[in-house]
Amino acid sequence: MNIFITLDYEIYFGKNHGTVERCIIYPTSELIRIAEKHNVRFCFFVDCGFILKLNEFRKQYPQLEKDYSAITKQVKYLSDSGHDIQLHIHPHWEDSSYNGERWIIDVSRYKLADFNETEIADIVYRYKKVLTDITSKTIFSFRAGGWCLQPFNKIKKAFIDNGITLDSSVFKNGFYTSDQYSYDFRNAPDKAIYHFDDEPTKEVENGVFIELPISSIRNSPLFFWRLFLLGRKNPYLHKPLGDGTAMPAPGYRKKLLTKYTVNPVAVDGYNAYLLEKVLRKLMKKKFEHMVIIGHPKALSRYSIRKIDEFVEKNKGKHNFTTFTKMFKNKE
Ligand SMILES: [Zn+2]
Repeated sequence: MNIFITLDYEIYFGKNHGTVERCIIYPTSELIRIAEKHNVRFCFFVDCGFILKLNEFRKQYPQLEKDYSAITKQVKYLSDSGHDIQLHIHPHWEDSSYNGERWIIDVSRYKLADFNETEIADIVYRYKKVLTDITSKTIFSFRAGGWCLQPFNKIKKAFIDNGITLDSSVFKNGFYTSDQYSYDFRNAPDKAIYHFDDEPTKEVENGVFIELPISSIRNSPLFFWRLFLLGRKNPYLHKPLGDGTAMPAPGYRKKLLTKYTVNPVAVDGYNAYLLEKVLRKLMKKKFEHMVIIGHPKALSRYSIRKIDEFVEKNKGKHNFTTFTKMFKNKE
């Protein structure tokens, strides 16, 4: 099995966005420690719109210099040491600004598809360029902010023009719609990898894009009751390391606590408890790839320990790898 541990590298977008140190730098340094201990590499989907905004506002507000330099240094370090740096787009940065004390985050245009095609072309070009400039490497993979990459036909041309050929945003059977979010992966093929053209859930043999979906799991409400209770009972172990709050997702928490739901397989917090179980399930299905999502900001002391154990236990039997290693030379 090829195992891709992928991390969306970003601050929070809710009422309290948190600090760069606690949401990004420190938890990522813990991942670097695990990677170096076991000699494995991870994939980081970097929220490059944030780097562009830091760059824009740091001249006016020198206190942002520290955040800008910490992030660009860490991204460069990750890339130089063999981790993947790939494109993660949260286009709401286009409408957001810094007021001298905090970021004023406007999520009224949250998805790429909320912009017109000229704007999308410009965003994809600039967001990709900032990562290429930092890493001097080829960026060809994408994860949509909040899984929102539909309708894809609005985005397709910008991806082709900018050499984005692999997407890893879909998780089979996921679906959710709110004022900000919109994704529906219920029709996605039940496969570890496939090609597509106009719609990431519709397989097209020899399609121009590769979809490497995030592995998904069906959770009982009981699992989330346990997750929320553990956070209360033992915050030291189970609270996220990031110090911000998530963007509201109306009805989502209630859905998790009352119904069976399909969720992406994740290393975030208590979700890491399920890694072994999912790996066994995917092996039984004869899948060749397992894609795990995570966010440095949402890691907990518990999940860091679990990632360490998971890698330790499986590094001899399975291949912990990156998009660049697996796909770059095979295009
Ligand atoms: Zn994100």
